[in-house]
Amino acid sequence: MTTYTERPWLALYRDGTRADITPAFDTMLELFRASVSRAPDAVAIRYFDGSLTFADLDARSDALAVALAEQGFAAGDRLAVYTQNNPAFVVGLLGAWKAGGSAVAINPMNKARELTYLLADSGATALLCLEELYASVARDVIAGDEVRVRTVFTCSPLDEQTRNDQRLFAGTNRGGVEGTIGLEQVFAEYAGRSPAPVSPRGDDVAVLTYTSGTTGVPKGAMNTHANMAFNSQTYRDWMGLGPDDALLGVAPLFHITGLVGHVGIALLAGCPLVLAHRFEPHVVMDAIREHRPTFTVGSITVFISLSGLEGATKDDWSSFRMVYSGGAPIAPAVTDQFQDKTGLYIHNIYGLTETNSPSHAVPLGVKAPVDPSSGALSVGVPVFNTVVRILDEDGKEAPVGEIGEIVTSGPQVVPGYWQKPEATEQSLPGGELRTGDVGFMDEQGWFFLVDRKKDMINAAGYKVWPREVEDVLYGHPAVREVAVVGVPDEYRGESVKAYVSLKPGAEVSEQELIGFAKEQMAAYKYPRSVEFLDELPKTTTGKILRRELRASGA
Ligand code: AMP
Repeated sequence: MTTYTERPWLALYRDGTRADITPAFDTMLELFRASVSRAPDAVAIRYFDGSLTFADLDARSDALAVALAEQGFAAGDRLAVYTQNNPAFVVGLLGAWKAGGSAVAINPMNKARELTYLLADSGATALLCLEELYASVARDVIAGDEVRVRTVFTCSPLDEQTRNDQRLFAGTNRGGVEGTIGLEQVFAEYAGRSPAPVSPRGDDVAVLTYTSGTTGVPKGAMNTHANMAFNSQTYRDWMGLGPDDALLGVAPLFHITGLVGHVGIALLAGCPLVLAHRFEPHVVMDAIREHRPTFTVGSITVFISLSGLEGATKDDWSSFRMVYSGGAPIAPAVTDQFQDKTGLYIHNIYGLTETNSPSHAVPLGVKAPVDPSSGALSVGVPVFNTVVRILDEDGKEAPVGEIGEIVTSGPQVVPGYWQKPEATEQSLPGGELRTGDVGFMDEQGWFFLVDRKKDMINAAGYKVWPREVEDVLYGHPAVREVAVVGVPDEYRGESVKAYVSLKPGAEVSEQELIGFAKEQMAAYKYPRSVEFLDELPKTTTGKILRRELRASGA
């Protein structure tokens, strides 16, 4: 009988693909430096009408590292980066590494409550922030007692204004923002200076990315240099990417898909990353027409809306050699529709923040099978050097073909969560990741996801943890009990719904409660609907029956 450790999926790799690869680089800095020395004048980032070469990125991140050191940032310190997609994000990562520290990637949609938690938990002492976000959110947060941020650098957005006047990091040109250092000022002041040389180790943290893992509290996944360098190489070699490619950056850079599947690949393969500041379909389509990308990885909703754009033709997509979609389930019918419109087959790719993007992917040019009983499209086969097992309820290996929890190990799996040893032990016992995803492997080695053990809601690839939304709703004086679940949504896959029972005599409308939540959390998290019940369904021991609620919302 087939076993998981025999790795039956290797037979599905396309011809010539190696089962295992030897990591070419231990750290993201080494990987970047190799590209700088190979082709300093090659374009690393394209945005609207501007571009930065590898040498530009090197010089700018040197300047930032010098500025950080002058501000007292020392080895092991953390620079939080809080901006929409922007070349400054990449400068921030490189600058933090060159100053001997790590970066903390923060979703720009986060509001004050969330930012406070992330800055406090990570202990970041420096922040690189979009000007507007400084004024509207960060300034007040930093004034709070829990936060240790001493230095703030600001950058401006890649908006129309930047496009028209070609000012890339226009912070100080606008007169700067009081109390912060504009990146433009950093580049002007420290031009030509190099930071003291540092050589991070493979197991040093490169980026803390926040995820709730399988439980409710956000935790900083410790994405090490070796983890990120390995999976940057996985992407490059799995998809055969090189300097002649161009990557379309549609995923948010703060998410692991953007960090590894955009920045990591571009820095390693030495090819340009085409950035749009956020996902606006017509802006992205303009970038496709102008810069002719060959590869992208993003979420299925992005591809649906791009392919549905009025006036878009097959020609627009002709530069692409391949498209990968991850982060959320894909309905097989959607891949067919996309192929009709664009001529491109969407390859599924699966992974978690804790696996630094892929643990599984569909081999290039191979059509993934659909499971006849669940209708699920396969998420692919484990990528290089990766071993995946399916464990049953008792923690024993389930026979091949049977359903259980997907458990993953490999060089891309994080060593744990930042300062959370208990959560690390729970999710990564013995270094193997309990994904909280439930699925099976067929005899050939294709993997399928059919359910989740974790309470996570997946709204178009954005992950929402019920507990966080519930905690906020409990802050409303009328609320007695609340349970938040994901309900099916045609566009987003799932959407957030709250079931609420009220305190005796209390009154509040659905819209009021939604507004109350919306003010305190990133836009993708607040409930889209609220249903009032006299009592929430419970087990005899008083535990709220989420599954029952989920089923009734379906
Ligand atoms: P994140 O940590 O945000 O990357 O979320 C990881 C979770 O996204 C996984 O545990 C899955 O539940 C889900 N996910 C990722 N890729 C896929 C995929 N290709 N199909 C279905 N679900 C996916």
